[in-house]
Amino acid sequence: MTTCLGFAAHEAHSALAPFRFERRALRDDDVAIDIAYCGVCHSDAHQVHNDWNNTVYPIVPGHEIVGHVTAVGRHVSRFKVGDRVAVGCQVDSCLQCAPCADHQEQLCTQGPTPTYNGKDRHTGEITYGGYSEHIVVREQFVLRMPESLDPRFAAPLLCAGITVWNPMRRYGVGQGSKVAVVGLGGLGHMAVKLAVALGAEVTVITTSPGKADDARALGANHVLLSNDAPAMSAAANGFEFIIDTIPSRHNVNPYLMLLGREGVLVLVGAIEPLEPIHGGLLIRNNRSIAGSLIGGIQAIQELLDFCAEHQVLPSCEMIDIKDINTAFDRLQNNDVKYRFVIDMSSLRDVAR
Ligand code: NAP
Ligand code: ZN
Repeated sequence: MTTCLGFAAHEAHSALAPFRFERRALRDDDVAIDIAYCGVCHSDAHQVHNDWNNTVYPIVPGHEIVGHVTAVGRHVSRFKVGDRVAVGCQVDSCLQCAPCADHQEQLCTQGPTPTYNGKDRHTGEITYGGYSEHIVVREQFVLRMPESLDPRFAAPLLCAGITVWNPMRRYGVGQGSKVAVVGLGGLGHMAVKLAVALGAEVTVITTSPGKADDARALGANHVLLSNDAPAMSAAANGFEFIIDTIPSRHNVNPYLMLLGREGVLVLVGAIEPLEPIHGGLLIRNNRSIAGSLIGGIQAIQELLDFCAEHQVLPSCEMIDIKDINTAFDRLQNNDVKYRFVIDMSSLRDVAR
């Protein structure tokens, strides 16, 4: 076991504060990783605030992790000390069931092991995430960081990136696809960059008029304000694929209306009841509404390699760990452009 310094919340309304805990000793198939950068996902805030009624305290969030290998278990074959690596939202699964066999470990029928606020499959201990110095992860859940991907900016690919990439690949977003991205935050801005890189024509649908210039700078071709009823009506039936990243309960009907023939709206943000959906809107145009949960390990590797090749990088605002509570407040107030990333070397100042 190794003592590890991290930042934890001890109850739903407490601030995150320094917290020391033990990381497990290496198992034969484990990789030990020193964490250099960790992204701040809106899910971290949901979990800290117990929005999904499943938080076990203390909680150490963080599932967008970039670092390097410091030790490997004796059966580890794909990584060696010094390798640049990354870890996303899950650190284990059964690796036996049909989804796992199909590289969809996030859908493991026995339940994947989340990077934090999960239960270790061997000991039942609660998992602690990336707002910390180091982490121990089963080899199969460690990603290889391509040399040409700048590690300072790569962390948000591990959750925000894969969560929007996976459904885009599933529904065949490509050259000329008409795509709309609802909500320009961490997930949304990655959806814009990735859809543009895949050759799509991209529209951002936002509640924030002040983000219109940013949306275009990120590569969007068009911007729609969701409260501009005439503009929304004019855009009806125009999209093949809409990704909805709104983080809370909302009305999807105004977005469903925008789907053309056989169009699909993929919901990734609101993990809670939605306002009622109008059946007529679904039936018209043979529209679909779907959900999507992050992505499997193979898909994350594919995304990292794609982003290295096309130099698609998240837009990050670097912060020190001591500023994490301000970052959470700003996330809540829709004031982030477009992902906070914690420079974990700042933990050293806390340790002193
Ligand atoms: P974020 O950075 O806070 O972005 C969310 C964006 O949604 C905001 O920037 C804002 O964009 C818009 N928005 C916020 N509140 C809204 C409201 N009440 N009505 C309409 N629009 C609103 O959050 P994120 O990190 O991208 O995460 C988004 C959601 O996805 C979270 O709920 C998170 O838990 C979830 N998530 C799901 C998965 C998955 O596997 N499905 C994975 C990761 C995260 P505008 O200013 O442009 O309107
Ligand atoms: Zn996340």
